Order: sequence, then structure tokens, then C-alpha cells
Amino acid sequence: MATIDINQVSKIYTGGVTAVRSVDINIADGEFIVLVGPSGCGKSTLLRMVAGLEVISQGAVRIGDRVVNDVDPADRDIAMVFQNYALYPHMTVYENLAYGLKNRGTPKAEIAERVAEAARMLQLEPYLERRPRALSGGQRQRVAMGRAIVRKPAAFLFDEPLSNLDAKLRVSMRGEIKRLQRRLGTTSIYVTHDQLEAMTLADRLVVLNGGQIEQIGAPLEVYHTP
Ligand code: ADP
Ligand code: ADP
Repeated sequence: MATIDINQVSKIYTGGVTAVRSVDINIADGEFIVLVGPSGCGKSTLLRMVAGLEVISQGAVRIGDRVVNDVDPADRDIAMVFQNYALYPHMTVYENLAYGLKNRGTPKAEIAERVAEAARMLQLEPYLERRPRALSGGQRQRVAMGRAIVRKPAAFLFDEPLSNLDAKLRVSMRGEIKRLQRRLGTTSIYVTHDQLEAMTLADRLVVLNGGQIEQIGAPLEVYHTP
């Protein structure tokens, strides 16, 4: 686990679009931050800068006590969950879960242990020998989350992970993420445009608009009921 310190971070894309403007967020150890705001407000750009998938134009990001601007994305102790699952179609669920650990040279016995633990948490035990095409959308999304969990990263970054699922599945997966959050307590940044997801999951909500923070606070402070 770790703190994430986003300090005066800006993103100016080649061509001159300022997508993120002097954003400051201090994320506590174990805190679950949800980024919301209209399409094009800079949510994805900000998340991708923390992930190391996008160059930071100005400012700094620290994860723990490490400045990550110059750290290779592969060396950042974070795991990202996307909406398009990004599973390997030719590998079984077990192999998909094990792949990242295997690449890092994790010993076989530890891989087996961590995969078993993640599979138990995500109710994927019956599907370990299946390939992704033989899974439902919800099961695939759970494998994608499993791949993040097995790494035991300092932080999770979620980029609209549930937006490809139907409404009913979104609700149940939302609950599942909430349970995992309680159980693991891993520092997280979660991007969504779904207000209920934001309300359910967030310790703190950050509302972005035009690349700037418009509001930041507990869900009930941000979403007033009239
Ligand atoms: P959101 O995730 O909130 O929808 P984005 O971070 O995707 O917002 O985009 C923020 C702004 O940056 C938008 O104006 C978008 O058009 C622009 N943008 C995103 N990616 C690029 C890029 N690769 N090059 C230039 N402009 C981009
Ligand atoms: P290798 O790559 O050296 O053959 P792996 O660790 O990849 O060994 O495992 C080989 C196969 O055994 C994989 O296809 C995997 O699906 C299966 N397997 C290994 N351990 C387990 C386990 N604990 N539960 C289910 N399947 C497993």
C-alpha cells in the first residue's frame, strides 16, 4: 500500500490541448478516489499519467516516497484495470492470472498460491482451465481484476472497468469491487462516468471540469440531494 501524491500536474498534448491543468490530489494510504466529470474533462489523461502511460508535462507524481515521472511504467508498483479486459485469448484463466507474475520471475509455488487466492476471492475457481471466449462478460472482468490483484500492487488504477457490462452486471460487479476494497484496502484511483458507481465506491470524489478540479470531497458533500 502507498500514498499517491499528485502535485501540480498538467498535461499539454502535442498540438496544444491542455487536458489537465495544475491538478493537486493527496491520496492517503488505502484511500479509494473516484474521478468523475464530463467526457473530455481529463480523467483518463490524469489516470494515464499516474500509470506512466502518458508523459507528465508539468508537476510530479509520487507513489509512496518515489517520484514516478521518470520510472519505467513496468517498474511502477501499480496495476491497471481496463474496460476492454485485455485478456490473452489463447491462455486459460489460470495462465492469464499467472502471466504477469511469471514474467516477473515469481517462483512457481508462490504464483500458484496467489492465483488460488485471487480465484477464491473472485469466485473464479470453477473456470481456471477455461479460455476467455468461454466466459461471460462478468467473468472476464473478474479475471481482469484478478490479474491486478495477484500482483499485490501498491495501488490499483481503474479506467471505467465496468462500462462494457450490462446494467445488472454493473451493479453486481460494483458490489464486488466494494468488497475487494474493504478486504484488500489497496490505494485506488477509479475513473467512471456512472454516478452510482462513484457514490458507492468513493472515499473521496474528485470532479474534474476542463482539466481542473471543480470539487473534491466525500460523496455526500459533492452530490447534494436538493
Ligand atoms: P476524459 O477521460 O475525461 O474523457 P481525456 O483525458 O480522454 O478525458 O481527454 C481530455 C482532453 O484531452 C480532451 O480534450 C481530449 O480531446 C484531449 N486528448 C486526449 N488524448 C489526446 C491525445 N492523445 N492528443 C491530443 N489530445 C488528446
Ligand atoms: P509450465 O508453464 O511450466 O507448463 P504452468 O505453471 O504454466 O507450468 O502450469 C501448467 C498448466 O497447469 C497450466 O495450463 C495451468 O492451467 C495448470 N495449473 C497449474 N497450477 C494450477 C492450479 N493451481 N490450478 C489450476 N490449474 C493449474
